[in-house]
Amino acid sequence: MKVLIGTGNPGKLREIQGILGDITGIAWLTPHEIQLPEVAEQGATFEANAVAKAGALARLTGYPTLAEDSGLEVDALGRAPGVRSARFAGEDKDPAANNRRLLLLLAGTSDRRARFRTVAALALPDGRVWTVEGVLEGRIAEAPRGSGGFGYDPLFIPEGETRTLAEMSPEEKNRISHRRQALEGLRPILLAVSRNPSSVTSDVGTDPGYGSPG
Ligand code: IMP
Repeated sequence: MKVLIGTGNPGKLREIQGILGDITGIAWLTPHEIQLPEVAEQGATFEANAVAKAGALARLTGYPTLAEDSGLEVDALGRAPGVRSARFAGEDKDPAANNRRLLLLLAGTSDRRARFRTVAALALPDGRVWTVEGVLEGRIAEAPRGSGGFGYDPLFIPEGETRTLAEMSPEEKNRISHRRQALEGLRPILLAVSRNPSSVTSDVGTDPGYGSPG
């Protein structure tokens, strides 16, 4: 079975392939093979955005589609940037500017608690959708460290660690990440769908009206 990975973010794409790439019986389609239409992210929650993305892309392309929406929640900022994580410092989605803004807002703040949250969604062209959430608790460092990963990784220290995610190898990050947890939750559904697509019922709904192309 062919399954489309519905993300234009190279960091996410690499991690999704690293985590689920071992599933035999699934040939992954990526934005390298198929041009993704832009899907608006207007939802108030990670789940709404993940379902909108996966649902719209599955309907438009005709392929089962895996998509995810994710972000950083910082307690001292009332859980911002949240669904606005990619655009925290502006519409150009500049990760270095996002990190600078985060450090500026937290200057002098001792409460550095934060978490990454991902909701992964699998949607079929007929409207069936499944979602799973993953969370990684941690804290925001005083200054960026490391060159691995993407986005806020140089500033995020997972609970029980001294290193930032950007100081870990890709394998180490993939073992513990929010993305790993969410995607592992979808693994049994992916296996069942690839064996017999009509055998599984959706946990979100069968309404093909989720989301709209942007
Ligand atoms: P979106 O899901 O495309 O809206 O973008 C999520 C944004 O959250 C990314 O652009 C990053 O800024 C941030 N983000 C999500 N997951 C991670 C991660 O694993 N590490 C670092 N930043 C992340």
